[in-house]
Amino acid sequence: MKRNIFHGISVSAGIAIGRAFFLARKFPQVQAAREISPTQTGTELARLDAAFESTRREIEDAGRRIPPSLKDQTGILAAHLMICRDPKLIQAARQAVKSDFLSAEWALEKAVAAIAESFSLIEDSYIRERLQDVRAVAERIMGHLRGRLASALPPDEPFILLAHDITPADTLELSLKQIIAFATEEGSRTAHTGIMARSLQIPAVVGVGALEEAVNDGDMLVLDALEGLILVNPDQAVLSRYQTQQNKFSAFQATLRRNAKLPAEPPGGFRVAVRGNIETPDEVMAVLKAGGEGIGLYRTEYGFICRVEPPSEEDLFEEYRRLLSAAAPHKVVFRTLDVGADKMLWDQKMLEEANPALGLRGIRYCLRNQDVFRRQLRAILRASMYGNAALMFPMISGPRELRQAKAVLNEVKQELDTSKVPFDRHMPVGLMIELPAAAMTADILAREVDFFSIGTNDLIQYSIAVDRTNKHVSSLHQPLHPGIVRTIKLVVDMAHMAGVPVSICGEMASDPYCLLILLGMGIDEISMAPQAIPGIKHIIRHLDLDECTRLAREAHDAGSIQAVNRLVKLTLAQAFPDELPFYISLLDTGDFA
Ligand code: PEP
Ligand code: MG
Repeated sequence: MKRNIFHGISVSAGIAIGRAFFLARKFPQVQAAREISPTQTGTELARLDAAFESTRREIEDAGRRIPPSLKDQTGILAAHLMICRDPKLIQAARQAVKSDFLSAEWALEKAVAAIAESFSLIEDSYIRERLQDVRAVAERIMGHLRGRLASALPPDEPFILLAHDITPADTLELSLKQIIAFATEEGSRTAHTGIMARSLQIPAVVGVGALEEAVNDGDMLVLDALEGLILVNPDQAVLSRYQTQQNKFSAFQATLRRNAKLPAEPPGGFRVAVRGNIETPDEVMAVLKAGGEGIGLYRTEYGFICRVEPPSEEDLFEEYRRLLSAAAPHKVVFRTLDVGADKMLWDQKMLEEANPALGLRGIRYCLRNQDVFRRQLRAILRASMYGNAALMFPMISGPRELRQAKAVLNEVKQELDTSKVPFDRHMPVGLMIELPAAAMTADILAREVDFFSIGTNDLIQYSIAVDRTNKHVSSLHQPLHPGIVRTIKLVVDMAHMAGVPVSICGEMASDPYCLLILLGMGIDEISMAPQAIPGIKHIIRHLDLDECTRLAREAHDAGSIQAVNRLVKLTLAQAFPDELPFYISLLDTGDFA
């Protein structure tokens, strides 16, 4: 008997009920006739050209459509586009039609086989790996030749997308509007599927295991991304129960949206600023509608990663000006370019670093590539005239690096002055605390900046030595590890002694449980993905701050992560018994048992 219940990790909250569609990614076997007569070459060449052209358009379209938060995937699209335009591939395939009288499908296969053979002779593993990209593009072209793409999809009906794993490139052939939820066999709490689902605001469960064999296309599914469950072909009673639960979730979301603009003020007068994390100017409206007071983290990488050539100063200026005007009078905090590790620029991949997360990343890349850094700083400074801008440097390891970055900023300001280009002279300058060495020197750093923003995603990665993208160690990514709690507390205390405000812009800020501890430590601002803002503001408005302070103290002194996790869970469950089931958390819920 087939399994009909699957467990996974909820990465985007909600409940979906709908038909299944499994994203097949196998290269379809070529069944077209191999040989053609000389009179058919014209037709076959036209089919081949049309298939290349449709694939090119499809990739360009996907580049425009994919959610901006999937920045690390856009490089793949740029690479695929280059392959699709590669004259060598096109010529080899056309030649096989003209000279060998092969049908378009077989000609394409021959051209790809020839490339594969030439790649296999190359020792460089990086180049050899590019063969996978060539194959992926060939699959798409073949799909067009065989008409597979249109016929393999469910007809105009919303569906739950199942897959082994999903990247934005995989969704090229799907209309994202039709997808009501995701589930993947692979994946961890930090998987791309979750980022994509959160950005599209649809429920998602990852790390579910063997779905492909157990679920047929068209099966009725309940995807419960509150509990991390998938039910296949449930009976009517179960369906009705989930429909009721789905209605309750929607009603709660509607209440949150109605109250989104209320300030995040717990009883007692304290106020915390809640802002949004975004990657493109288009997302500003989502933040403001969700009740965010501006942008606490503008990840500027997207403008660089989605292209093969780096953007010009004018491109950047226009992007930043548009963002500042849309957000005004609210603040926008620009994080200077943080490429490397999981956000590789196309040319950075050539560096072949064994440990890119410990390599030429963030401010290190910028100080080494000052033409790019200066271009970005000029664009931010020029745009600062159009709104309320602030700037911060990522991945700072200590005072020396901060001074080097500030020296470059000052030189750029002088250049602008000399050319009489106006900019906001009072634009606050801050830094991200993401490395333990920065946390330990927070007292010195605080004397030289206007604000701190703690990037907990990286702070956890570098403090616990747990790769944030590695599913094998994802259970060790523990935000309330006493080592993390103590580090954050140290930074907050050092900063406050110097009169410097502290923001949290990592995922911890949008976790309901972590929030208690952060507020208890005296955090001044939090910044998160737009869709998390209304729910987090709701919790803040109903919190007892004295309780948070007590919890933060206990977390600081705790001997075990489990004890802290249990404590925050109990506290929130008492305060929000009805609403808590509608939130998902970064914490390993297994700890609560
Ligand atoms: C962080 O590290 O917490 C952060 C906000 O930056 P990013 O996730 O972009 O590395
Ligand atoms: Mg970071």
